Amino acid sequence: MAFDTIIRGGTVATASDTFACDVGIAAGRIAALGADLGSAGEIVDATGRLVLPGGIDSHVHLAQPSVPGIVMADDFESGTRAAAFGGNTMVLPFALQRKGQSLRQVVNDYHAKADGNCHIDVSFHMIIADASDRVLGQELPALVNDGYTSFKVFMTYEGLALSDLEILNVMAVARETGALVMIHAENYDAIRFLTDRLERAGKTAPAFHATSRPIPVEREATHRAISLAELVDVPLMIVHVSNREAMEEIRRAQQKGLKVYGETCPQYLVLTARDLEGLNMEGAKYVCSPPPRDAASQQACWDGLQQKVFSLFSSDHCPFRYDDPHGKLVPRGRTSFRWVPNGIPGVETRLPILFSEGVGRGRISLNEFVALTATNHAKTYGLYPRKGTIAVGSDADIAIWDAAREVTIAQSLMHDGTDYTPYEGFKVTGWPIATMVRGSFVVRDGKLVGAKGFGRYVSREKSPLAVPAGRVPLV
Ligand SMILES: [Zn+2]
Repeated sequence: MAFDTIIRGGTVATASDTFACDVGIAAGRIAALGADLGSAGEIVDATGRLVLPGGIDSHVHLAQPSVPGIVMADDFESGTRAAAFGGNTMVLPFALQRKGQSLRQVVNDYHAKADGNCHIDVSFHMIIADASDRVLGQELPALVNDGYTSFKVFMTYEGLALSDLEILNVMAVARETGALVMIHAENYDAIRFLTDRLERAGKTAPAFHATSRPIPVEREATHRAISLAELVDVPLMIVHVSNREAMEEIRRAQQKGLKVYGETCPQYLVLTARDLEGLNMEGAKYVCSPPPRDAASQQACWDGLQQKVFSLFSSDHCPFRYDDPHGKLVPRGRTSFRWVPNGIPGVETRLPILFSEGVGRGRISLNEFVALTATNHAKTYGLYPRKGTIAVGSDADIAIWDAAREVTIAQSLMHDGTDYTPYEGFKVTGWPIATMVRGSFVVRDGKLVGAKGFGRYVSREKSPLAVPAGRVPLV
């Protein structure tokens, strides 16, 4: 058999095994794993390199409409370009509905933004902000059947937060349709209460963003979300967990046999609330929700990863430019942290940070790294085994890594649409040097070689993790 490409001489790692072998690629798929595979159109020498499944970042925000005057810094072109440089072969952004909007129209609008503009493959989660009868009764079930098999709901944010009743109604649709529910767990009223008091006391600097949403805000909402899901007997993904108390709520649910899953992000491993205390407005660069906390919370998130309470490690890439009146330095933001756009960039730095701090420092194995950054995302969101692993028949979505390369993260190295990285100056060992999507290089030797539009939209199966436990009949 002649292959299009053979990646020769590398060390392949999957979520379960590490082995020396060559990878034969034909028609965009992995066609053979072995030695002496024969001839190919191109032989890629990976001697001394790691050959890993391309990263799947299942929590990113691209081209998402924001409040008036605020513009997200990445569209699908720049966001997927940065993702590719960071060793990713697929991202899952959110198609965000606003109140009164047709969910189908929202999804169509996102296709219009994405189609023809992506460097790597994409699929969409939906965000349900309007839990009306029409949306839940007609639009949502049809969309789930069309391959949009996961959606997120918010317990906070003006215009997005759902009431407990609305969350229950959404969860019931998920149970009936087999979709997976993701939830942003923070208590909206508690944040409003604290924000009002902080503002009245003149405590309006960016650092008070963290003060306005302390750990109990997240822990309570996490507990409540789990309780609501238990009531409906529907699986639940708690996204971007930042601390021990929320992590332990998830662990307790898992120990009870509930299908509750957890995700954490780089900002909760290597940033703290101190980063929000920068002079003038510098702290705005780190404003995201939940906020980074402290060293003990960082350790808790490592515990959650090591003990498999968290199955996903995502970036929550939510990019705004810093020195920009339509970004972090929006004039209103100077009057209160309340108006500073929430979110930080990170799609390009997610993998190097976890590789260096996790694998490099012996906290997790290389196979756990692959699981947390690729395989589990594919399994969780209905993409496996087409995506997320190196196996015969899977898409040839591959990242080649130099495990010894030392890099000091700097904005000058980044490829997204923002003007800063929250990880400026952070030193890592290990860097993705090439990214291949469906057998074609997108990034190679530090250069973008793939064409815009090569990345495709991928329709998803229903997640096997979304099957109810069958503990409670839904009346
Ligand atoms: Zn997010």
